[in-house]
Amino acid sequence: MALDGLFFIFPSPMKILDGKALSEELIDSAKDEATKWKPKLAVILVGENPASLVYIKNKKKACERAGIEYEERRFPDTITQDQLISEIEKINTDDGISGLIVQLPLPEHIQVPLVIRAIDPKKDVDGFHAYNLGKIFLSPDFEDLPPATPSGIIRLLDHYDIPIRGQEAVVVGHSNHVGKPVSIMLLNRNATVTTCHIHTKDLKSHTKRADILIVAVGKAGLITADMVKKGAVVVDVGINRTEDGKLCGDVDFENVSKKASFISPVPGGVGPMTVAALILNTVHAAKRQNLKP
Ligand code: NAD
Repeated sequence: MALDGLFFIFPSPMKILDGKALSEELIDSAKDEATKWKPKLAVILVGENPASLVYIKNKKKACERAGIEYEERRFPDTITQDQLISEIEKINTDDGISGLIVQLPLPEHIQVPLVIRAIDPKKDVDGFHAYNLGKIFLSPDFEDLPPATPSGIIRLLDHYDIPIRGQEAVVVGHSNHVGKPVSIMLLNRNATVTTCHIHTKDLKSHTKRADILIVAVGKAGLITADMVKKGAVVVDVGINRTEDGKLCGDVDFENVSKKASFISPVPGGVGPMTVAALILNTVHAAKRQNLKP
């Protein structure tokens, strides 16, 4: 029997998009450049949000692995917006620091867009500043400091040789940091992109059409197997906690994985890829600052 016939009887099994393994590979691959350009990442943390503490611990570990100097500046959640912005300005003018992230969320009395606007775009290694977000609209060639999570997602798809050009890509979630930029990055790679959100009528009619389905909402169990096309590539960005304290995504992994050709797990999928993309941005920012007088 021809090989094609065998595949018909035994369809190729679902594959895991292993973000953890790829993230470690990418962080290790940044070591040489880190030695050369000596990046230093500053992280501003306001308050003691438990999830933020976990995220910055992971970022610190990744910096240590890549050989990137890391500094945390912590402030109480009573800090005013003006005080926070003046702390950012100090880092902007500190030549010894090449990358800066302000860990989100911030307390309610602080307006996030104003804080992000205060970050020097050259040091904005989270890729949240309007300048860096604007550049990704142009073409992949202008993605100097792309937002970390969308960049991590694209790297994950590329690593597994998942074609993007001409594919139906459906993104669920339209936040400024994940849903919108990943939609643009997929469009720039010539996918046909649909972006869904809380006001989308009949979500399933869109998700069912997806060759590539990216879900970034923050609602456990939102995407069930009946909403997914057989053979789709499913990337789960969501991070939720179950009642027993375990992490889970937005996709019903157990059942959707039986239909998908590729699926990213939570944890171990997009989360570590976001950290890897942050590390690559940090090295890239240092390199550009070193090369420019
Ligand atoms: P957000 O709250 O800013 O945006 C949520 C989006 O989901 C919005 O566009 C909203 O319209 C949409 N939405 C809400 N309910 C919906 C519904 N029923 N149907 C369709 N769309 C709906 O969130 P965000 O910052 O983009 O994060 C989304 C999720 O991804 C969260 O769980 C967050 O923790 C996670 N996240 C993970 C990483 C990572 O590295 N893995 C990074 C960033 C965010």
